[in-house]
Amino acid sequence: MRQYELVDRVKRYNPDADEALLNRAYVYAMKAHGAQKRASGDPYFSHPLEVAAILTDLHLDDSTIVAAMLHDTIEDTATTREEIDQLFGHEIATLVEGLTKLKRLDLVSMRAAQAENLRKLLLAISEDVRVLLVKLADRLHNMRTLHFMPAEKRGRVAQETLDIYAPLAGRMGMQDMRDELEELAFKELMPEAHETIVHRLSDISGRSEKLIFEIEAALSRSMEAQGVRAVVKGRLKKPYSVWRKMNAKSIALEQLSDIFGFRVIVNDTTECYRALGVVHTSWPMVPGRFKDYISVPKQNDYRSLHTTVVGPARQRVELQIRTDEMHKIAELGIAAHALYKDGLAPDKRGLAAESSAFAWLRRTIANLAEGDPEEFLENTKLELFHDQVFCFTPKGRLIALPRGATPIDFAYAVHTELGNGMVGCKINGRLAPLVSELRNGDEVEVLSTQSQTPPAAWESLVVTGKARAAIRRASRIAVRRQYGGLGRQLVERAFQRAKRAYSDDNLKAALPRLARASVEDVLAAVGRGEMASSDVLRALYPDYHGERAHIVSEPPPKDPGWFSFPKSLGLIFKPAAAPGKTQPLSDVPVIGLDADVPVRFAEGGAVPGDRIVGIATPGEGVTVYRIDSPELARFENALDQWFDVRWDVDGKNARRFPARIIVVSINEPGSLAQVAAVVAEHDGNIENITMTRRTDDFVEMTIDISVWDLKHLTAILAQLRGKPVVNSAERAHG
Ligand code: MN
Repeated sequence: MRQYELVDRVKRYNPDADEALLNRAYVYAMKAHGAQKRASGDPYFSHPLEVAAILTDLHLDDSTIVAAMLHDTIEDTATTREEIDQLFGHEIATLVEGLTKLKRLDLVSMRAAQAENLRKLLLAISEDVRVLLVKLADRLHNMRTLHFMPAEKRGRVAQETLDIYAPLAGRMGMQDMRDELEELAFKELMPEAHETIVHRLSDISGRSEKLIFEIEAALSRSMEAQGVRAVVKGRLKKPYSVWRKMNAKSIALEQLSDIFGFRVIVNDTTECYRALGVVHTSWPMVPGRFKDYISVPKQNDYRSLHTTVVGPARQRVELQIRTDEMHKIAELGIAAHALYKDGLAPDKRGLAAESSAFAWLRRTIANLAEGDPEEFLENTKLELFHDQVFCFTPKGRLIALPRGATPIDFAYAVHTELGNGMVGCKINGRLAPLVSELRNGDEVEVLSTQSQTPPAAWESLVVTGKARAAIRRASRIAVRRQYGGLGRQLVERAFQRAKRAYSDDNLKAALPRLARASVEDVLAAVGRGEMASSDVLRALYPDYHGERAHIVSEPPPKDPGWFSFPKSLGLIFKPAAAPGKTQPLSDVPVIGLDADVPVRFAEGGAVPGDRIVGIATPGEGVTVYRIDSPELARFENALDQWFDVRWDVDGKNARRFPARIIVVSINEPGSLAQVAAVVAEHDGNIENITMTRRTDDFVEMTIDISVWDLKHLTAILAQLRGKPVVNSAERAHG
């Protein structure tokens, strides 16, 4: 590129350009670099000149073009900042100095905790976004000439480009810049993948040539027929973005819509919606794919309507509808705002106000810069290193995560509450599984509800310490809440039995005596069995010495389908617990369990003399089974639920226990009365009877009785078997 060529380029978009200034910079930089050579063997000056040329493509102002030409002078030549100040003025000198600072920062070697350097870098950019624009152009030219570099350096530069500069360009809305940086880095880093995809893309587009033309023509015709003036153009997707999509979703390249998109460019915003109407009335839309980035622009100022329709040949067709200006911003991003206006250099404050992308940049930097240095370092490490990904919230907040992070990590990184309440997520606008691995640049939307406890299993789905700790904490709290609820029940019950008033406030006053920090702690301790409810009672009422009251349960409720024995038969009903019903707490006299754990008998009951075992069920307490109960098979694989329990009865606290027997008798009038009479004669209480007809000749009675012990029960069974009407009398299983 010659001197006059550069000036020509600038004058083409800015007729009022300061030609003399541009010429002075050209000559100055050429002389400063002198005989320096690039790795390609070209004179070094060709590099700053090309960088300036790239910026003319972005239609940037004189100061930026001049700064680009001078960007390597302070670092690589004898030039000083003062000299540039004198020759080119303060504005340009500041830009060049900012670029010099960036050049000195070797981003990849930042593993050595040079957080301060990065902070400076970001601050330099935030002071004047044109520094970033020149830096990106500089990187782009270096990437274009990467093949001249020593092989060992190439990979590092390409990786850095992919990790830092390309996403940064994308974030600034500079899609063209991003695409080219990615393409060059992709080719360097994964030459085989690159070649395969390029080949495949040209293969499919070659085969689809006719179809693409058809779609373009059909769209244009429909637009014209409806009076919408539009330019329709097909465009092949970029290899790197295709590769990324294939990688992320493990999809195959099959459809045209996987590799090809169409753009409809119209004159104004209203036309965009009219064009959309034409598209949707011509072809059926694919539900869930329509996006209105005009009424809600993306954070980087991107505006367009997106939709997917089922086009001719039943192919999916992706469309973007936008105006010329939207198109310019979509491709140039923040640079589009830096365009010349009325021959005046853009005021950077004006630029900031105009561009939400720039506002985003400032905010990101503010986020990174606040907080203590260590935290800042942590953030910067996460953001910059290769083994990190950085993702964005729908509002454009940057969330840095280690590679391998999932949307769950993301949610917790945003806010602990968001993580706890997470129920789903969208990645780049599409619903995605929570186990998805996040990629650089992903936009993640967390779907959440309030008051949720994260499943403990999530712990294995996250990679960040923050998420893991939060999940653990949340499940600890949930368990505590559960124990707390049980504890409260136990405590309230104990107070009720003792006929004393209970309130949280009273308990609060007694906390020191219980050596616990909070009411919740006490209740959870009782729920876990670490503390007895009677201890709580005594802590509040030191004068209380009463024994634990023995609770006699109410007669069982009359379940439909259960036959309640009529009193007219002369049988005595005494209140006692029915098998299968929840027993009064601690009314099951067994030892081997903590005080205050709720205990109940299994459905079939158990009586002293039976060999028994306790099975603990979370949240329900312990159920006592007979050792020969077939039900126990269900718990064979959960031996930690088994508790060795023994009867705790002696002559003094004798009481009755539930048992269920099954009697088969001859089906004749009066057989029930005879059976009942035998039980009553032998001091067994009948609680319930259900009768089922087995055959015409026999009926089966399931009888819940209460007895003193196994000996008593065995005696009753023997008496029953001795009756002529009784065919068989057995203990029920379980
Ligand atoms: Mn350079």
